[in-house]
Amino acid sequence: MSTGKINVAVENIFPLIKKFLYSDHEIFLRELISNATDATSKLKHLSSIGEIKGDLGDLTIEIKADKKAKTLHIIDKGLGMSQEEVQKYINEVAFSGAEEFLEQYKDTAKDSGIIGHFGLGFYSAFMVSEKVEIITKSHQDVPAAHWVCDGSPEYSLELSDKQDRGTEIILHIDKDSKEFLEESRIRELLQKYNKFMPIPIQFGTREESLPLPEDADKDAKPETITVPNIINNSNPAWTKKPADLEEKDYQSFYRELYPMQFEEPLFNIHLNVDYPFNLTGILYFPKLKNDLNIQKDRIQLYQNQVFVTDNVEGIVPEFLTLLRGVIDSPDIPLNVSRSYLQADGAVKKISNYITRKVADKLSGLFKKDRAGFESKWNDIKVVIEYGMLSEDKFFEKAEKFALYPTTQGAFYAYEELEEQLKALHTDKDGKFVILYTSDAEAQHSYIKQAENKGYTVLLLDSPIIGHLIQKLEGAKEKVSFARVDGDAIENLIKKEENTISKLSDEEKETLKPFIETAIADTGYTVQLEAMDSDSLPFTLTQPEFMRRMKEMQQTGGGMMGNLPDMYSLLVNTNHPLVSEILHCKTAKKRDRLIHQALDLARLSQNLLKGEALTQFIQRSIELIK
Ligand code: ADP
Ligand code: MG
Repeated sequence: MSTGKINVAVENIFPLIKKFLYSDHEIFLRELISNATDATSKLKHLSSIGEIKGDLGDLTIEIKADKKAKTLHIIDKGLGMSQEEVQKYINEVAFSGAEEFLEQYKDTAKDSGIIGHFGLGFYSAFMVSEKVEIITKSHQDVPAAHWVCDGSPEYSLELSDKQDRGTEIILHIDKDSKEFLEESRIRELLQKYNKFMPIPIQFGTREESLPLPEDADKDAKPETITVPNIINNSNPAWTKKPADLEEKDYQSFYRELYPMQFEEPLFNIHLNVDYPFNLTGILYFPKLKNDLNIQKDRIQLYQNQVFVTDNVEGIVPEFLTLLRGVIDSPDIPLNVSRSYLQADGAVKKISNYITRKVADKLSGLFKKDRAGFESKWNDIKVVIEYGMLSEDKFFEKAEKFALYPTTQGAFYAYEELEEQLKALHTDKDGKFVILYTSDAEAQHSYIKQAENKGYTVLLLDSPIIGHLIQKLEGAKEKVSFARVDGDAIENLIKKEENTISKLSDEEKETLKPFIETAIADTGYTVQLEAMDSDSLPFTLTQPEFMRRMKEMQQTGGGMMGNLPDMYSLLVNTNHPLVSEILHCKTAKKRDRLIHQALDLARLSQNLLKGEALTQFIQRSIELIK
């Protein structure tokens, strides 16, 4: 037996490790299973290159909890360690055997999926244990070793009588960490971190019923047997080649990732690069609702099939955090801070690659099956529009496949807008002005009005569309957008051929002050226009620029103070009701008509609320009595 001092520069490194190495105590199990997995992968690698002869036997890793003895056991049948190796790899803190192995076998082992590389993971065991034992037998013909350490820098190392190859780590769980002896807690951790690790992991047993023989009696009970309960799928879909997978495999892997998610994903993107960095994964486009926040952060990040986090902020561009799926890269360190990630060059490259792949996939779908793409548009537009807004590279690519739907259910690409739609007019910068609605329900009467005059109205109703329109108009020379209930409508009216007013100039001069006085308290600007007789008598519009400024202010651009409401009241001098207002016998009746027409205009702008709405209802009842 030998005793000695663990070789660390700082005498009291253990309290430091306990407190600071990992903020999350639960990751100790991930680290120890990663080591067991590494030991097994190394063994398999040595066997594959002929350094180990013969059958390796069953390689399942086993996790066992003994509540009475307050111990948790992690048992592998990997390559094990000799006493000298324990001395070297365990006692010299921060000496990584994983790195050494990769260095030694660098020609053959780079795809062996070795996880470790800091040489600190093992010590995370002390975050939850008062004492840790290692009993290990090397695959080479040397005696087994038994190492014990109680968390002080002193350890003991002696021979053991362990006969079979591999390593057992025994954690004597400390009293503050009793939760890690509970079956349900262990199961939860295994589910979270180890669900897709490459070596089978057993935790407990389960009953399995055997299939009945074909000639069995119809009420014969199937025989049940007890089998090891394997908690992981060691061969998940993303580790396979796209050519070996069918659509149904992608679907069933989605179920495996999100068992509680009932909707099918719309399509998927298989990621697979090995230069200049390594990355595999599968991303899914789910059906997205307009509420962005609740849908974020479902992508799981793995490192060599070990779960790292489901917060991929900084690795995946913000707009893609709305997708689901898995990303696996050995180039992403297991334990690092966010600020480190953001500064890391490899991470930036990964982010660019993913953006490009997503754009390529979308443009492929668009080209191959435009109708199919159109039918999915409403479920995916948020991601695309969000991406166009936030990533310039994506904006350029998305130009080809971003769609602009109309209220009539047609879909146009940006390039098609000019050739397919009738311009409202050409503005002073020579831009082709197109009408759109942000809310087909609320702006219904305006849409109808425009459609009656032969205009197509685009239906652009995502929450961020205002910002995107702003960006499009800045980036493009050709097209500009005008909301259907804005001042653009005046253009729509003025362009009409039958603008001959039924009212004489004299009559107009009488009419205008009538209305202005009646609605003085509203602050609306009265504007007389000769419109079709089937247009509304009164219409309220807000200048496009003013509405946009207000929208920007609401979404946090607020340097402008409180912007005033600025509405124009368009009075249709060709409408019979307006003639009636002019020719009213009593001032009282006229006032009532004006207010009634005004409230109808407010109603179609969604502006009639509270007391004004109550008064409108009262007045309407009076009128029909
Ligand atoms: P890393 O995994 O980053 O190398 P660790 O602190 O997790 O660092 O482990 C240190 C070293 O101890 C490993 O690289 C390996 O050589 C050895 N080791 C740890 N656990 C085992 C095990 N179960 N079987 C064989 N060797 C192990
Ligand atoms: Mg490790």
